[in-house]
Amino acid sequence: MPELVPVLTEKEIQKTVESLSRKISNDYKGKSLVLIGVLKGVLFFLADLARKLSVPVEIDFVWASSYETGDTSCGDVSLSCDIKTDIRGKHVLLVEDILDTGKTITSILPAIEKLGPASIKVCAFIDKTERREHECPTDYIGHSIKSGFLVGFGLDYSGKYRNLPAIYELKF
Ligand code: 5GP
Ligand code: MG
Repeated sequence: MPELVPVLTEKEIQKTVESLSRKISNDYKGKSLVLIGVLKGVLFFLADLARKLSVPVEIDFVWASSYETGDTSCGDVSLSCDIKTDIRGKHVLLVEDILDTGKTITSILPAIEKLGPASIKVCAFIDKTERREHECPTDYIGHSIKSGFLVGFGLDYSGKYRNLPAIYELKF
């Protein structure tokens, strides 16, 4: 059985979500926002963040998966960017659980840009800096963490551990 080493408690996670939501609400004061979440890992972060924002929001999702079944990115991102919300002329915040190599975000951004939003920014709960290969925007970051494979608060390993309320490093 892999070991779960605590990285962020539920309390620390909620404190970070609150601080991000304050910053975002302040930056978009007087405007409205379309949150586009990258499934599935973002589900709890997006739900918590959206409920704390004080600006009007619409919510939509794209699907992306690079870690097919394990803990090593296979490098190929499988994407589905079928956004139903009309984002033309609107401010978009792309919300992601983790930025790792940067491949997922840099693959999604052109597809969203094509839909003609007024602006696009990126918000990630965790910025894993050690393996960055593709330069990508990091407008709002919850925590910078150097390395390690994380689970919990939406993050899975082979479909498991997503529902843990805290974040752990999985040690094999
Ligand atoms: P990237 O394309 O930036 O290399 O990878 C980003 C995606 O890989 C994230 O959206 C996330 O779903 C997944 N990922 C990256 N690091 C981790 C990690 O430590 N744990 C889990 N569970 N998923 C990760
Ligand atoms: Mg993800």
